[in-house]
Amino acid sequence: MSEQVLAVDIGGTKIAVAVVDDAGTMATEVVRPTASSTDAETVFAPAADAIRKALGALTEPGEPLRVGIGSAGPIDGPGGTVSPVNIGAWRSFPVVARVREVVAAATGAEPRVGLAGDGHCFALGEHWLGAGRDVDSMVGLVLSTGVGGGAVLDNVLFAGTTGNAVHLGHISVNAWGPRCVCGCHGCTEMYARGPALVAAAQQRGWRGEDAKALTADARTGNVIALEVIDAGMRALAAGIATTATELDVRTFVLGGGVSKAGEVIFAPLRRHLHDFAVLDYVRDLEVRPAVLENAGLLGAAALAFTL
Ligand SMILES: [Zn+2]
Repeated sequence: MSEQVLAVDIGGTKIAVAVVDDAGTMATEVVRPTASSTDAETVFAPAADAIRKALGALTEPGEPLRVGIGSAGPIDGPGGTVSPVNIGAWRSFPVVARVREVVAAATGAEPRVGLAGDGHCFALGEHWLGAGRDVDSMVGLVLSTGVGGGAVLDNVLFAGTTGNAVHLGHISVNAWGPRCVCGCHGCTEMYARGPALVAAAQQRGWRGEDAKALTADARTGNVIALEVIDAGMRALAAGIATTATELDVRTFVLGGGVSKAGEVIFAPLRRHLHDFAVLDYVRDLEVRPAVLENAGLLGAAALAFTL
């Protein structure tokens, strides 16, 4: 018999909640836009509403019901709180306790609730049902307005002490680089994230607006687009190779909005990896495109099944 868990995915633009069984099938998915408010409870209210609505689809709950939460970070895993950069109203917001309250009130029983960062849930989802399902160890990477990541090592999420391990966007690939918003210098994200590619192109006279237009222009041979993407992917390649060398992992799964441009991103990335992934044990490292549309939500479900 299959067992169902509740998965909650909290992002800066939307909050998604689903009832998912142990084959990864969703009985329902409820999506609400993330409220833009400075009041923590105003932001939580639509999430609570989505949870109550999704629970209506629960037919095979485990005993106790297991709930996995994936959230934009940074998070405090042991404390059960989140302080997402893109949700200003939540600073050390006790999301685990609040979700537990809502589920307990709706079902009459205390659930078991787990929390992980969105990059970690992305990795868990792609490892469970996506591009990394055939390997024991992989790193998942999200390339969009930022660069996020998470690692599954020997089939277990490597959360780290506070739940923020493998924060690949904020490892330095240039010790003499400019100061990042995080306070460090020359972070991977400063060169590789979508808005950084766009800004670099605009500085050279490119007239487009966003990363989608930039990758489209690169595909038609626009020299500025090709060169700034090449430079950004060199930085990402350095970050990936560093991570591979540290963790001794050879499979990387790359997702996120910018990665959806396909070969125009993957080709320069793979080429630059030859300059950085040079030791024997990482020389054949592989960067695969992500395959799931909702890896974060399925990863939150995967997290719930480990509770
Ligand atoms: Zn940084």
